[in-house]
Amino acid sequence: MDEEALVKKLNEALAGSRCKYCGVTDQIRIEFRLVAKPLGTWSLSGAQLKTSAYRWPWAICDNCGHESKGKVGTGENPDE
Ligand SMILES: [Zn+2]
Repeated sequence: MDEEALVKKLNEALAGSRCKYCGVTDQIRIEFRLVAKPLGTWSLSGAQLKTSAYRWPWAICDNCGHESKGKVGTGENPDE
């Protein structure tokens, strides 16, 4: 599934859901962001300045601005 299709699917899954931080419904949208990999996930030997990041879906509340990083799997119920 490409990114655009995934965003569409996730937005559909979130339609009508309520932001647990501000309580407003239907204001949550999905956005893909570039996330840097945490340090320590690669070996220093032969390390070069190359981009070490991946794209990941985030759920963003348009009302209060709270951002939740998506989880692998269902794409539902982001906790943070
Ligand atoms: Zn909110």
